[in-house]
Amino acid sequence: MRAGFVSIFGKPNAGKSTLLNALLGEKLAITSPKVQTTRHRIKGILTGEDYQVIFSDTPGLIQPKYKLQEKMMQAVKSSIEDADLALLMVAANENKEEADEVFSSLSLKAPAIVVINKIDSVSKEKLESIKDYFSAKPYCREMIEVSALHNKNLDLLLEQILKYVPEGEAFFEGDDISDLPTRFFVAELIREKIYELYQQEIPYETTVKVGAFEEKTTLTKISADIIVQRESQKAIILGEGGRMIKQLGTDARKDIEAFIGRKVFLELFVKVRPKWRDNEMFLKEYGYS
Ligand code: GDP
Ligand code: MG
Repeated sequence: MRAGFVSIFGKPNAGKSTLLNALLGEKLAITSPKVQTTRHRIKGILTGEDYQVIFSDTPGLIQPKYKLQEKMMQAVKSSIEDADLALLMVAANENKEEADEVFSSLSLKAPAIVVINKIDSVSKEKLESIKDYFSAKPYCREMIEVSALHNKNLDLLLEQILKYVPEGEAFFEGDDISDLPTRFFVAELIREKIYELYQQEIPYETTVKVGAFEEKTTLTKISADIIVQRESQKAIILGEGGRMIKQLGTDARKDIEAFIGRKVFLELFVKVRPKWRDNEMFLKEYGYS
């Protein structure tokens, strides 16, 4: 039996959350074309006949500008500390020098595989030049090219990963898929829809807190608060005549129903909490600690 921890690192938008979901075959981590969607360390547990790999998706590496971002980078740090293997993910269409800078700054103790993602989005020549560039780097133990979105080479990647997973007993029960509670994923699914529906600063200055979660006989009743920083943002979240929040509720409910496999009644409220992203007490209340 092999069992160990594999953490995924990279700049925002490299495709880390997409990879976690593809490897697990389940949508655990929310994704979006906007940067900084992931705010937590999200563990996904993949259990096979003779192995258990605990993958950690992490927030993209950035220079923190406010407390929430500091918490996000702490989540990265904890993933560095207990990793048996690091996946250093770079999108084939992103700036390779910047990605290199980020990888070099991690001070990894664990071995690393450079994962070149989004190979569907570049030419063969471009891909070759990226491969040459990273294969010369000291942290590059192995390299693989994949498309997380199109499920390309992921079985090969898993094979490579397993070579670095130490022998040992499983850490989690065989049918566990994450260490996080259902209400965490519910809040995340609502947050994902906020990234889809609202523009500019709104997604970045918003968070979601799930309150009541009641399993009734025919459905699950969930209420959640959408936290924004300013009154003007509350008006935007609501939209004219409540049109936008209604859309948000409908979109989120569908995904939550798919995730928990039950009918859902979802109630959303909007609350203004000035500067919550820089307030220790609010950050703790909203699950960033
Ligand atoms: P993260 O910030 O690193 O977690 O990135 P996400 O997983 O949220 O993905 C960012 C964006 O890249 C999303 O729009 C994904 O659909 C897209 N993406 C991820 N993997 C691929 C891929 O293999 N090919 C292409 N073309 N897009 C991808
Ligand atoms: Mg992500």
